[in-house]
Amino acid sequence: MYMLSEEHKLTVKVIREFVDQHVRPKARSIDKGEYPRQLLKLLGELNILVPTLPPDVGGAGADTLTQVLVVEELAKASPGLATIMEIQSSMLAENLYHNGNKVHREEVVPKLASGEAVGAFALSEPCCGSDAAAIQTRAERRGGEWVINGTKMWITSGLYADYYLVFARSGPAEARHRAITAFLLHRNSCIEATPIEVMGVRGTGTAEVRLNDCRAGDDDVVGEVNGGWKIAMWGINMGRLNVGAIGLGIAEEALREAYIYAQRRIAFGKAISEFQIIQHYLAEMYARTEALRSVVYTAAKMRDAGDSDFPLYAQVAKLLGSRTAVDVVRLALQIQGGYGYSTDSPLEMLYRDAKVTEIYEGTNEIILNTIYKFMREKFA
Ligand SMILES: Cc1cc2nc3c(=O)[nH]c(=O)nc-3n(C[C@H](O)[C@H](O)[C@H](O)COP(=O)(O)OP(=O)(O)OC[C@H]3O[C@@H](n4cnc5c(N)ncnc54)[C@H](O)[C@@H]3O)c2cc1C
Repeated sequence: MYMLSEEHKLTVKVIREFVDQHVRPKARSIDKGEYPRQLLKLLGELNILVPTLPPDVGGAGADTLTQVLVVEELAKASPGLATIMEIQSSMLAENLYHNGNKVHREEVVPKLASGEAVGAFALSEPCCGSDAAAIQTRAERRGGEWVINGTKMWITSGLYADYYLVFARSGPAEARHRAITAFLLHRNSCIEATPIEVMGVRGTGTAEVRLNDCRAGDDDVVGEVNGGWKIAMWGINMGRLNVGAIGLGIAEEALREAYIYAQRRIAFGKAISEFQIIQHYLAEMYARTEALRSVVYTAAKMRDAGDSDFPLYAQVAKLLGSRTAVDVVRLALQIQGGYGYSTDSPLEMLYRDAKVTEIYEGTNEIILNTIYKFMREKFA
């Protein structure tokens, strides 16, 4: 792949070995609900849990392309683990490193980067996911501190997190995104998490998280008071690129499984790969996967180059990544026939896991709205 340097190729080799040795054997137990905390620690030991951070806080000093390569490789075996990792790295650790205070940077970020601590990004609520500017969790000033009350919904790692990046309303509801503040809360008895059963990306500790009179000091504010929206978007833009990389990993894995199966499966006296329609399915899957790869890798390079179109490309990567994943797994599963529908086939899990990429980190309808908004500015 022409975009990859020798260093990137080495990273891919290392992470593939890691995935074969540690992730593939665990993928099904993660899918059955086991939260992979130990794997986060192992990724931390290799300095690739948050690869883009400098080495002094536990990263590898790597670029954004390295980040997406790690996410892509993890997603091939376990989209659930890739989801946990990308939230912990981009939406929490990297976000806190760039936008948090000295304590966040020096005390919390190294714990997140080593896997010693787990982090959760708590924006969505029962009232509002797409319309996140309407969140109802309140942060009120009482006696020189903040008191936070509300309920967060669908929070990945919510069951197990040591730190929650919580977004709360700190002004009038009419002010929408201009009156939201981000707080970093350490887990304590004011936080109650209950599990939510989900169709895919199981084992990610998805939870409803209730905040009951949680106290926070000014030092727990991330960024500026009423500046939480900026913190959320900083995380979400990178998160959307990561979802593109998850889609890429899922599509590659599904294509490989379907290709191998098509050579082996005999029908009407020959391998099904000899039927032209199967060849065309595989060719279509390949073309779409490679087109996606170009978009995801390009967006990663744009971020490091400081290209102002990065946020737009992050949306494009998320849209195409999720659609490609869903379409490619669907065709791959079709190629495997009855076997594909059985729980013996890895495609059954990937089919369930792929679907959520069209929903989380902004539904594809919201992504299309955002792309159109960027287009209006570009074409004005
Ligand atoms: C497994 C999983 C993990 C998640 N992890 C996290 C997490 O870690 N942190 C977090 O904060 N959130 C998380 N989420 C929440 C996720 O981001 C939301 O589910 C998502 O943003 C959609 O919000 P909603 O579910 O409230 O749907 P709604 O906003 O109610 O949307 C319902 C439907 O209406 C459509 N719609 C809404 N508004 C518009 C519009 N303006 N134009 C067109 N269509 C519209 C939507 O696209 C969707 O099809 C997770 C969700 C899942 C399923």
